[in-house]
Amino acid sequence: MKDIIIAIDGHSSCGKSTMAKVLASRIGYTYVDTGAMYRAVTYFCMKNNLIQGGDIDIPALEKALPDADITFRHISGSQKTYLDGEDIEEQIRSMEVSSMVSPVAAIPFVRTAMVERQRRMGEMKRIVMDGRDIGTTVFPNAEMKVFVTASAEIRAERRFIELTEKGLKVDYNDILANVRERDHIDSTRSVSPLRKADDAIVLDNSQMTRQEQNEWLYNHYLEIAGR
Ligand code: C5P
Repeated sequence: MKDIIIAIDGHSSCGKSTMAKVLASRIGYTYVDTGAMYRAVTYFCMKNNLIQGGDIDIPALEKALPDADITFRHISGSQKTYLDGEDIEEQIRSMEVSSMVSPVAAIPFVRTAMVERQRRMGEMKRIVMDGRDIGTTVFPNAEMKVFVTASAEIRAERRFIELTEKGLKVDYNDILANVRERDHIDSTRSVSPLRKADDAIVLDNSQMTRQEQNEWLYNHYLEIAGR
C-alpha cells in the first residue's frame, strides 16, 4: 500500500470526524481534526476576553495569536487539544464555542496560521485530516478526497443526540439554527470557502449507517492506496 494523504471535507455535524477516526485507527494513520484547531482559537479568544457581545477584537487577536500556547497530541485515531497545557477537549465542544467558531475561522490570518500547521502535519503523509478546505486549500494534491454531506435536519438531529448523551441540556431548534448558520458562513466566506474539490468523491450519508460509511471509506482507501 502507498502512503497517502486522505482529505475529508464537508458540512458541519455530518459525522466526518467519527468516520475519519475509525479509518485512521484501522489503517494506522494519524487523525487530524482541523475543526478543533479553529475551536481552540475561539476558546482562546473567549478566555482572553477578545470576544465581547459577539464582536471579535481582531487587532488584539492578531497580536496575541503567535504566542497562544495551543497544542495537539495525536494518538492514531484520536486527537487531544490543549491550551497552556490544559486539556480543553470538552470546552471547545460547547455551544458557546460552536456559535463563535465560524466567524473566527473566517479571519484570514487565523486561516493562514492554521493551514501552515496542517501542512506540516502532513509532510510524512499517512494522515486522515478532516475539515472544510483540506482537499481544496491545505492539500490540493491529496491522493484521496472525500466530500461528506447530509441534510441539515439529519445533521442537527445527530448532534442533538450526541450532546444529550453527554448529559448536556440542548434545544434541537438551536442546534439546527447553528448548523444552518455555520453552513452559510463557511460556504460564503472570502478565504477558502467550503466547497467540494473538483476531484473529490461525494458521500451523502443521510441514509447510511455508521457501519456502511466506514466500509465505504475503507474500500475507497484500499482502491486508491493499492493502485
Ligand atoms: O469540524 P467542526 O464542526 O468542529 O469545525 C468547527 C468550525 O471550524 C466549522 O464550522 C468551520 O467554521 C471551521 N472550520 C474551517 N476550516 C476547517 C475546519 C473547520 O473553517 N478546515
